[in-house]
Amino acid sequence: MSAAFAEALPKAELHVHLEGTLEPDDLMRFAARNGVDLPWRTPDEVRAAYSYTDLGEFLQLYYMGCTVLASRTDFHELTTAYLHRAAAQGVRRAEMFVSPQSFMGRVPVADVLGGVLDAIADARTDLGVDGAVLVIAQRHRTEAEALELLDVIAPLRESLLGVGLGGAEVGNPPSKFARFFADARRRGYRLACHAGEEGPAEYVREALDAGVERIDHGYTAAADPALVRRLRDEGVPLTMCPLSNLRLRVVDTLDDYPVMRLHDEGVVVSVNSDDPPCFGGYVADNYTALGLSTAQLAALARSSFSASFAPAGDVAAGIVAVDAFVGSQPNVADAP
Ligand SMILES: [Zn+2]
Repeated sequence: MSAAFAEALPKAELHVHLEGTLEPDDLMRFAARNGVDLPWRTPDEVRAAYSYTDLGEFLQLYYMGCTVLASRTDFHELTTAYLHRAAAQGVRRAEMFVSPQSFMGRVPVADVLGGVLDAIADARTDLGVDGAVLVIAQRHRTEAEALELLDVIAPLRESLLGVGLGGAEVGNPPSKFARFFADARRRGYRLACHAGEEGPAEYVREALDAGVERIDHGYTAAADPALVRRLRDEGVPLTMCPLSNLRLRVVDTLDDYPVMRLHDEGVVVSVNSDDPPCFGGYVADNYTALGLSTAQLAALARSSFSASFAPAGDVAAGIVAVDAFVGSQPNVADAP
């Protein structure tokens, strides 16, 4: 299976953290612009530092990376850079996470989200990419802080698609944020939640009980047949991130990665990049790394649109685009 097929395949990306898309060169450039001291002097030193072995070590570097972003212009440029790379990898719709709590007291939330939204508007015109934002609450913080975040972003409610929960998973179960999800739903947000990455399948269950509409990762749910049936029956998609799981040692190899098995069992699964420069690849690189057939990749691309929070007409148009692309390719059979 060629990487070129995976790159040209129309797809939606549903699990990507904008702060985690900082390429080492841009990290150094923003640091110089904003007078931020980093422990690295060159982009190559940054690349060498990306050698974490679990989520906790990764998050320490991730939060350090956040310190170089300081203005609306920075967030605009960061988002534009990601959307260009995503478009080059076949992304037609991008639902992107932003975590304003990382910047509170330093960058006004109106600048963080305003810069992102400016870039989304540009990309809709310049690249034909349909972008949207989900605001992440960090689960190592309190639920009171998550509720406060909903108040802080309220002026931008109509410009934001949804909310999610991210950060250090173990010890911070979704049930800790039940009121946050309930309040967000009341305000009209779509609900996503990281669960089942390093945490147990039980966390995925708790997220479903909290009314979450999409599970980010959900890897550990794959080994729980009753939970797999529930995800299928309730139509709750998983946004899986193979290269992230490999790099953070959630899995030792992608040989038995359960994405196609879950798909075959009726769960809506999509493939995503999470924090692409940190884990060795953008979204099409994640498709390619799975070693699947072109027909299987096309099935996952269709699911990426089905799993999106886009209006039904846009979902249907995305699936038509996949079918049209596959039809233009020689020797690609339909996958179930
Ligand atoms: Zn994530």
